[in-house]
Amino acid sequence: MPRTRLLAVAAIAIANMFVGCATVDQKFGDQEWYQKSKAASTKAVVVTSTTASKAYARMQKYLAEKDVLKTFQDAGEHSETAVLGVLHKSGIAAATSTPHAAAQKQAKKPVAPPPLTTVPEQYAGSLRWPLDAYIVSSEYGDRWGKMHKGMDMAADAGEPVYAIAAGEVIYAGDGLRGYGNVIILRHDRKISSLYAHNSELKVKQGDQVAQGTLIALLGSTGHSTGPHVHFEVRDGDAAVNPRTVLPQSKWASGPGLPPAM
Ligand SMILES: [Zn+2]
Repeated sequence: MPRTRLLAVAAIAIANMFVGCATVDQKFGDQEWYQKSKAASTKAVVVTSTTASKAYARMQKYLAEKDVLKTFQDAGEHSETAVLGVLHKSGIAAATSTPHAAAQKQAKKPVAPPPLTTVPEQYAGSLRWPLDAYIVSSEYGDRWGKMHKGMDMAADAGEPVYAIAAGEVIYAGDGLRGYGNVIILRHDRKISSLYAHNSELKVKQGDQVAQGTLIALLGSTGHSTGPHVHFEVRDGDAAVNPRTVLPQSKWASGPGLPPAM
């Protein structure tokens, strides 16, 4: 995909957020796709213009610096064992391995998972992206001959990191090797999300969060080459590609990938 086309697609997203912005109107106002997106988004823009204008300014900066930002990603492996330990302890992702024979003798009946008092059995709401402005610096999938279980999203240190959905904080700290200051949220019996390498954590274990709650400030703690969020979404033990479960991103496309529009 040519770079000009890519930038044009980014501009569509900007146009969606900035109805009435003179510059965008002048540039795209006579084009049909712009008119349509403008008409469709008028109502939302009125409500969010203050936040959106700040995100717009940051996004322009990140786009200008994207060659540098794309180098900000994980600098090494994260401890999968540590994450699974947190998930299993919370009861959202029961271990699938057969219980040890001795344990089976002691517990004749299967042990029921702990009750969920703070999150629903099955989350039925929407998901949002954890950042308002960012450059994707590393996609989910094969990397360095191993599986990259998250998506790396680079931005300036201090960029706000938001909860993608309502839920409970099941981990907030720096004790999971490689992840730096990391937050893990559970959203229901199976679905969790993880936000790593933060400079500051704004919530603590046991807190309830709403979708869009500020949970951390982006940073470069843990195994990291520069300020970014390593972002994971899990279904049980298994990490899934965030692009397959979150809405199509308004902003940056990944390196070498078509724009997420
Ligand atoms: Zn990562």
